[in-house]
Amino acid sequence: AKEAGRGTHAFFADTMTDQLRHELEIASELVRAVDHDELCLHYQPQVDLRSGALVGVEALVRWQHPERGLLQPGAFIDIAERRGMIRPLSAWVLEAVCRQARAWRERGLVFGRVAVNLCAQQVADDAFAEQILAVLERTGARPEELELEFTETVLIQADARTQADIIRLSEIGVRFAIDDFGTGFSSLQYLRNLRADKIKIDREFVKDVTHNPSDAEIVKATIALGVALGLETIAEGVETEAQAAFLRRHGCHQVQGFLYARPLGVEVLERDWLTRRCPPHAADAP
Ligand code: C2E
Ligand code: MG
Ligand code: MG
Ligand code: MG
Repeated sequence: AKEAGRGTHAFFADTMTDQLRHELEIASELVRAVDHDELCLHYQPQVDLRSGALVGVEALVRWQHPERGLLQPGAFIDIAERRGMIRPLSAWVLEAVCRQARAWRERGLVFGRVAVNLCAQQVADDAFAEQILAVLERTGARPEELELEFTETVLIQADARTQADIIRLSEIGVRFAIDDFGTGFSSLQYLRNLRADKIKIDREFVKDVTHNPSDAEIVKATIALGVALGLETIAEGVETEAQAAFLRRHGCHQVQGFLYARPLGVEVLERDWLTRRCPPHAADAP
């Protein structure tokens, strides 16, 4: 009777099972990964379009998996969100970023700010602001060294409590950026109320900006919106000189993308991008 059911239907069911099995495996391996420091952070430089100077870095998580090799976030972030592992993962990232910021400062390395991607659960948590304050306290990172990125999906769910938390953190110097701007459910009202400091124009619009007239108009309008609201704008996924020239011509402040640098391991970032602060006596000289 069991054999009778074999056919395309059973084959389909087996495929589903494989996907589910994979997902459950990744989720349980993530528990181990967080505990055993298999996660690591790469940092992608963010560059001022006019001066070419480094203004900050974005921390992007990777998983050095003992059997599967180096995994990009696309291979595990969504699974972590679905399988209840995103909180411990996010806590690990935030802690690691803050420790790194403090270590760089203490070694006199100039990095601007470190941007971290937040997930919806972190922001929705009643203790959102407390948790950020606690990690700053514990690690010795400074509020002005931290930039928190969230997407429009998070923004749209933000209630009065979230807004109050964001304001509280802004007031001590933490900055907020809206990630993947334009791909989610933007509400101009939220933009106004939430005190973001920065809009990140998604790669989706930047990709064809030099030859797709609608993308060009969307990017120009987004930059204008940023200017009108007093927000910084940064374009993501800049890969060509032509894209950079377009962005510069239309008043975008900052860029991030493979044209400048890929997400880099700490050693390469320090070697190629971080400069040493002038010694105090040099800075004090007339
Ligand atoms: P995102 O925050 O929008 O990060 C930008 C992504 O674009 C990164 O992919 C980066 O490597 C890639 N990118 C940057 N410049 C270019 C370019 O010029 N061309 C192309 N093709 N790609 C570029 P990555 O590292 O794979 O991260 C993907 C997404 O995973 C991130 O998108 C973010 O949403 C999420 N993510 C990464 N790290 C974390 C984390 O620590 N926590 C959470 N919750 N999410 C994270
Ligand atoms: Mg981001
Ligand atoms: Mg982004
Ligand atoms: Mg993006």
